[in-house]
Amino acid sequence: MKPDFGYSINQSQKIDLDQTPKDVAAFVLRFEPSFAICIGCGTCMATCSAGHFTHFNLRMAQLMVMRGQIKKIHEDIEKCMLCGKCQMLCPRGVNTRNVVLAIHRFTHPLSRT
Ligand code: SF4
Ligand code: SF4
Repeated sequence: MKPDFGYSINQSQKIDLDQTPKDVAAFVLRFEPSFAICIGCGTCMATCSAGHFTHFNLRMAQLMVMRGQIKKIHEDIEKCMLCGKCQMLCPRGVNTRNVVLAIHRFTHPLSRT
């Protein structure tokens, strides 16, 4: 019998990149090419109102796009208010609002029309 320590081992968080879809990253890059120069610095999140009041994190959303983890960002991306504050701070000049729009278009097929 296993001892009960009041906690358990977490499930593996391993991501097999060979098994995740690549079409979401390709779609976002086509829609907004500046996405390619994001360095994942997180500066965009320093000012994000949505991130302040919810668990939304644009940098994480962008990372998940690159990893093809679209299930996780499907609902999250709606929390962005497209205010554009993140775009003003981005040191790489990434058009973050367009990146959000692209993710939204991909994850919500009805908005592609
Ligand atoms: S601030 Fe710009 S470069 Fe940094 S994570 Fe955000 S989008 Fe990427
Ligand atoms: S546009 Fe969206 S991600 Fe950027 S600061 Fe505004 S709410 Fe946050």
